[in-house]
Amino acid sequence: TKTILLASRPVGVPTAAQFQFETRAVPASAAGQVLLKTLYVSVDPYMRGRMSAAKSYVAPFAVGEPISGGVVAEVVESHGAQLPVGSVVVGNLPWQEYSVADASAVQRVPADQAPASYFLGLLGMPGLTAYFGLLDICQPKAGETVVVSGAAGAVGSIVGQLAKIQGCRVVGTAGSDEKVAYLKELGFDEAINYKTTSDLAGALAAAAPNGVDCYFDNVGGAITDAVYDLLNKHARIALCGQISTYNATEAPVGPRPEGKLLKTSSKLQGFIVSDYHARWPEGVKKLTEWYAAGQLKGEETVTEGFDQIPAAFLGLFQGENTGKAVVKVA
Ligand code: NDP
Repeated sequence: TKTILLASRPVGVPTAAQFQFETRAVPASAAGQVLLKTLYVSVDPYMRGRMSAAKSYVAPFAVGEPISGGVVAEVVESHGAQLPVGSVVVGNLPWQEYSVADASAVQRVPADQAPASYFLGLLGMPGLTAYFGLLDICQPKAGETVVVSGAAGAVGSIVGQLAKIQGCRVVGTAGSDEKVAYLKELGFDEAINYKTTSDLAGALAAAAPNGVDCYFDNVGGAITDAVYDLLNKHARIALCGQISTYNATEAPVGPRPEGKLLKTSSKLQGFIVSDYHARWPEGVKKLTEWYAAGQLKGEETVTEGFDQIPAAFLGLFQGENTGKAVVKVA
């Protein structure tokens, strides 16, 4: 089976040189295990963190070992009664065409309810991130203004749709005019192309004339600095990601926001989706209901072919994806 190893740790922006392709024998599956054929591989910004040696909330990838992450796969050989051949599962699996896993380490997905790839996006980890970050941390109320950065991505596009379901005014920032148009289609009230807007602060202020009650932060940096100037009294900020700094080689510097949080009695909370692990079934149930009712759309950018996994991953940092970035392997 083909596999992709971490060849070296990147400094700054990662490149194709960090990925090494290798062919290995397909391992035999033993009692309680399943042989899995990879259907879709998820590429996610957090993987950049795992390519570095620095300690974080998930252990670093080992140099010379397969990279792993969210994968949707089909069971092709089963020694685990609960997972018959043909069932579709999701799990944390290596970037390989075939892999062997303990049946208990993967979850069967209801593949009749949505396209299989959606269990890596809308009905998977990014959807749950949007659900808990927005509804639990920001707690938006009807009529409030919600700003989401990285709005056209996997998490952001769901955050915006959920905030519309809550009856909020929703403003998003994204990196192209096509993405801005897409966000309007999704029902965002305003969307701003942060790459071409010469006056980001002015554009945000115009888009949020009543100020900002909730901010779902996916990107950090200058966009976040500008949003903090618009916080209303008792604003809530869900600190989800800081992708604008993931490739930085020096500590990012900028305005100190503490005074703005203080003066507005705002609440800033970082979170990791796994903090909510015990409540994931609730989140999947709600997301599935809204999806089935046509209230949530699961946009994705599908790249074809196992060999394209590194390119799809690197594309995250160039804004190449709209919605969830996935690679179709088989
Ligand atoms: P996305 O689908 O949003 O993909 C990444 C997007 O980020 C790109 O398409 C690009 O869009 C944008 N981007 C890239 N570089 C920059 C930059 N320098 N400044 C601003 N935007 C940039 O990824 P996800 O939805 O999967 O993740 C979004 C964020 O949420 C990430 O920061 C991720 O780490 C975080 N996350 C956190 C989780 C948690 O548990 N806390 C769980 C899942 C994700 P554009 O064209 O707009 O620039």
